[in-house]
Amino acid sequence: MFTLPELPYAYNALEPYIDERTMQIHHDKHHAAYIKNLNDALLGQEALLVMPVEKLIADLSLVPESVRTKVKNNGGGHANHSMFWETMASSANRKPAPSGALLEMINATFGNFEQFQEKFSAAGLGRFGSGWAWLSVEKGKLVITDTQNQDSPFMEGSTPILGLDVWEHAYYLKYQNLRAEYIKQWWNVVHWGEVEKRFTDTTK
Ligand code: MN
Repeated sequence: MFTLPELPYAYNALEPYIDERTMQIHHDKHHAAYIKNLNDALLGQEALLVMPVEKLIADLSLVPESVRTKVKNNGGGHANHSMFWETMASSANRKPAPSGALLEMINATFGNFEQFQEKFSAAGLGRFGSGWAWLSVEKGKLVITDTQNQDSPFMEGSTPILGLDVWEHAYYLKYQNLRAEYIKQWWNVVHWGEVEKRFTDTTK
């Protein structure tokens, strides 16, 4: 059975950039629903229910065809949100930008950190409808992509290290239709230490 991970900080820890009420509904209702639907879809499939969700969604051919779309959507939702919570931080754990090997590769790939932010923001802003913007490691290189619905870079064989939820449920209470403003403010809460750790893990 998949279970809802606790937020690594208080619901109000991302204020004023992401409001407490949004975090409550997003975590307790939306994320919880993906997990419930995932468990329901895999009822009786014990071997699949004990797999790490990232592994499960990376190889959906293991899943019976009758529930594959459900597992893709809800397994993706579980994996994406689990990472989303962890790659944001309360004020004590924040820093404005990455450093070390990750910063070096961002500079080498995108020019500099500001240009990386612009390109990533544009991916989130340009995603029509619901979906995500991603920074992933693909064959040892950094790539920025966006996906629809709850699709994940894991489904394409790459490893996401930072994801931004641009579904309206992620920002509508505070920002209404202003997705660009939500994205601009979200940069304030990114947990660069955690993103660096995930980057390093891909090189092991
Ligand atoms: Mn969401």
